Formats: sequence, structure tokens, C-alpha cells
Amino acid sequence: MSTPRLPVRHQQQGNCVPDMTFSPEPHALRRVPVCGERTALPADLVRRSLTLAGSHVQTEDVEATLRCALQAHTGGEHHAFVTQLDSTDARAVWAMWTDGPPTTVELRADCEAVGPPEHGSPLCCEFDGHPGAHTYGIHDPWTER
Ligand SMILES: [Zn+2]
Ligand SMILES: [Zn+2]
Repeated sequence: MSTPRLPVRHQQQGNCVPDMTFSPEPHALRRVPVCGERTALPADLVRRSLTLAGSHVQTEDVEATLRCALQAHTGGEHHAFVTQLDSTDARAVWAMWTDGPPTTVELRADCEAVGPPEHGSPLCCEFDGHPGAHTYGIHDPWTER
């Protein structure tokens, strides 16, 4: 009496091809909600940002309406991108605030995190050492296509 055997090809597939049945969808990046807190940049900090950024940056390059794009957080400071420096400089001007308008702006290095290649290797748009998830791991209705 012989034991029933699977067709040879099936066995090979079972051995050589990973079982995709329970794999997540390829586009399923795990996403967490965005903070989205908004504020306005006071005029004196617009001027300060221009000074920090350098002479090539004009007033219209400075974001006066700020929005925290960090992962939703309870407590801690909100952070918003204000303006880019020269394209050769991997830093940007950021504003910080808790309650009320921002009181300070400062230069921060860019976060160097890169998302998975199967998602097009997206770059994180936050600053180095930011709290929470990287930009590509955050669900932001403003940036969804
Ligand atoms: Zn925030
Ligand atoms: Zn990041």
C-alpha cells in the first residue's frame, strides 16, 4: 500500500516558492494618524527664519501658516517646517510651539530615514531625531493622493 503523493510540480512549488497567501498587501504600509495642529508664524519669526535660512530665501518662501506633520501626540511640542535652506544644505528651518503661537525657530538637520524600496523609497520629511513615525508611516489626508 503506497502513501498518496502530491504531484511533483506541486511539491516543488511548496518547497521553493514562498506561500503568499497570508502576506500583507504590497501597498499596505502601516500608517498612524497625523497631528495636524495649526498655527501662524509671527512676523518677527518670519524675519528670524529669513536670517537663519540665508540671503537666497525670500519672504514668500517662508511658510507663515504652520501645520504639525508629526505623528499625533499628546503633550510635547508641535513642530512645523518653515523653509528650506540652499539645496546643498541638508537642514531646514523649523518652528516649535505648544499652546499659542510659536516662540522660536531653529535650524535642524533633515531626518535621513528612507522608506521601503517596494514603496518607492520615500524620504522622511521631518527633522533628525523627531518623535513618532517617519512621514511615510503617517496617514495624512493632506498629502494622500
Ligand atoms: Zn503636533
Ligand atoms: Zn523621520
